[in-house]
Amino acid sequence: MGYNIHLRFPANISTQPVVCNLTRKFDLDFNISKAQISSGREGYLILEILGSKEQLEQAKKYLEEQEIIVSEVAQRIYRDEKSCVECGACTAICPTAALHMDKERHLAFDVEKCVVCTRCVKICPVRAIKSDIGSVNE
Ligand code: SF4
Ligand code: SF4
Repeated sequence: MGYNIHLRFPANISTQPVVCNLTRKFDLDFNISKAQISSGREGYLILEILGSKEQLEQAKKYLEEQEIIVSEVAQRIYRDEKSCVECGACTAICPTAALHMDKERHLAFDVEKCVVCTRCVKICPVRAIKSDIGSVNE
């Protein structure tokens, strides 16, 4: 069975050994659906974990012990186009440029690039962006 989980790594934790340990310690297979990792900054991964519910719970407990924030997600960020005033604030903090201004200076949202970091949810002055995992506290 496959489960989609969203991981948020603090800047001081390397994602690679932690994610490899999911296989080593819990015999889990996984696919990395999306990743945004840069040295010296926090990282985000969306993983599809293949295994039983029990294996998933063990893996989540392990990840949380490593100070990683784990959310089960359907990977969704919504923009309410009617509320958006196209101020551009969200484009300045979007780490993947999923949110950007197009050539006509309108806000464009490239869902494929979004790693669900939820920064845009917090910064939008008119609350035009929402996430189904809420906004993660800094
Ligand atoms: S911050 Fe909010 S109002 Fe401003 S461009 Fe982004 S979605 Fe639109
Ligand atoms: S959640 Fe918002 S700020 Fe984060 S990657 Fe997606 S669109 Fe960009």
